[in-house]
Amino acid sequence: MLSEIAAATSALSGIKTIIEGFVSERDAAKLQQTRAELFKLLADAWQAVFELQQAALLQQTEIAKLADANRKLESQLAQAGKTESQFQGYDLVEVTRGVHVYTGPADADGARKPPYLCPTCMSKGEHSILNLQKGKSPNDQTRLVCPSNVGHSLGLPRGLWSMAHLGKPPHKEPPNA
Ligand SMILES: [Zn+2]
Repeated sequence: MLSEIAAATSALSGIKTIIEGFVSERDAAKLQQTRAELFKLLADAWQAVFELQQAALLQQTEIAKLADANRKLESQLAQAGKTESQFQGYDLVEVTRGVHVYTGPADADGARKPPYLCPTCMSKGEHSILNLQKGKSPNDQTRLVCPSNVGHSLGLPRGLWSMAHLGKPPHKEPPNA
């Protein structure tokens, strides 16, 4: 940008010098030469102006792109902050024998109620709320399933579980266990 401005300025000051000479010198040969130089300088000046416009246009596009990227980052940051504060105070708790999840502070009865967060996702800084998936038959294990990755799912001890049986101190066994 600066080099284009410098080119335009020097072309224009060249024109001024020549016009000054043109007024004092009146012979035909000099006139011819002056005219040629004048056209050359005008062409250079227009070229410089054109390049200046192109550079300005390019810069506007770049600025628009940067502003767009900035907006996206700001909204991602706001979202991350919201999730972070939503799950503040969550810690790793054993909600029944051998099953650890992240959950919020204990209620008045000392119970750690859902939502329960997947500990594997939590270790990667992600928040994924576990869903209780009952076994299809009495012998089929009930699980806390991670919606982000089935491989993160936690199997519960045998029994007819519901969320109400989890997170109670001391660990209550489910009915018909
Ligand atoms: Zn997970």
